[in-house]
Amino acid sequence: MKIRIERSSSPQNKPEGPLSFGRYYTDSMFQMDWNPEQGWHDARITPYAPLTLDPSAMVFHYAQETFEGLKAYRTEDDRILLFRPEMNARRFAQSNRRLCMPELPEDGFIEAVQSLVDVDRDWVPSGEGQSLYIRPFCFATQAGIGAHPAQTYRFLIILSPVGAYYAGGLSPVKIYVEDEYIRAAPGGTGFAKCGGNYAGAFAAQEKAEKLGYDQVLWLDGVERKYVEEVGAMNVMFLIGDTVVTAPTEGTVLPGVTRDSVIQLLKEKGYTVEERHLAIEELMSAAASGELKEAWGTGTAAVIAPIGELYYRGQSCFVNDQQIGTLTMDLYTTLTDLQWGRRHDCYQWTHQVSERK
Ligand SMILES: *Cc1c(COP(=O)(O)O)cnc(C)c1O
Repeated sequence: MKIRIERSSSPQNKPEGPLSFGRYYTDSMFQMDWNPEQGWHDARITPYAPLTLDPSAMVFHYAQETFEGLKAYRTEDDRILLFRPEMNARRFAQSNRRLCMPELPEDGFIEAVQSLVDVDRDWVPSGEGQSLYIRPFCFATQAGIGAHPAQTYRFLIILSPVGAYYAGGLSPVKIYVEDEYIRAAPGGTGFAKCGGNYAGAFAAQEKAEKLGYDQVLWLDGVERKYVEEVGAMNVMFLIGDTVVTAPTEGTVLPGVTRDSVIQLLKEKGYTVEERHLAIEELMSAAASGELKEAWGTGTAAVIAPIGELYYRGQSCFVNDQQIGTLTMDLYTTLTDLQWGRRHDCYQWTHQVSERK
């Protein structure tokens, strides 16, 4: 892929001190356009700047929009690593296909990410727990409010230096089990990473926060019975000696962290069951003490320990609201791999090489 590079003539100062999520953006962004005649074309890295779009641009009306989320990590010896970007590339193509949007070739996606991170490599922070969050996204640009898939699209990547997800260190979250709203239904867009899924989920998140909880636990959209995800993370439960997590059959987002944690667990000798887990089964396991640990998995938080589950008037604490041994072990293993502190026998990390 030919990428035109125009560096910013007025680079900003890098933020100092703690970095809150999504507050700062780097000097550059990647853009590329699509139309039926040329396909993907005009790949370019340009100074970070606002976009101009027609008010009738179809993304504003029918929400053809998909995105990804991954991170670049700075190692102690100043290399920059990406974590399994090919998984994001593949998932992005799947999301686009579901929303009738043109797919990006997976190698093009990775090259675009690597080139932009390389141009702004000074922006990859080096503080404890800090990284550069990478947000690729794609949307319909065609002007015209006819309700059909658009004929033109844009793909962008922006970068944001972020701090450790838990400013005060890893701490267990309180979960509200949502039995009214749903996130996804069979045949819908649950497996696609698209903005529309988030728009539909905010009402439940607001409700949970008003009631004093951090996140919602989503149940399946048909029976409101089986556990699916927690907030925008996959979710896992250590019940006895077995780890249980929802299968990715269409309503659950196939997380890169989820897949990585499953591999790590199997290697550590755990049985991992990808199965439908009824909320009643989960709550009675919690009440009897059989539920030993619970955690969410996602790129932003890596591992989010769960300390409390509230469902229909009943609260259950998990592991006395302390971070479990396995939860902590998974967090350490994964973050050590991502920051290059542990030998990567899985070949999950990709170094971003420096262009001459
Ligand atoms: C992005 C996302 C996840 C986590 O995926 P990772 O690849 O691990 O970051 C889980 N659930 C939802 C709904 C998501 O959007």
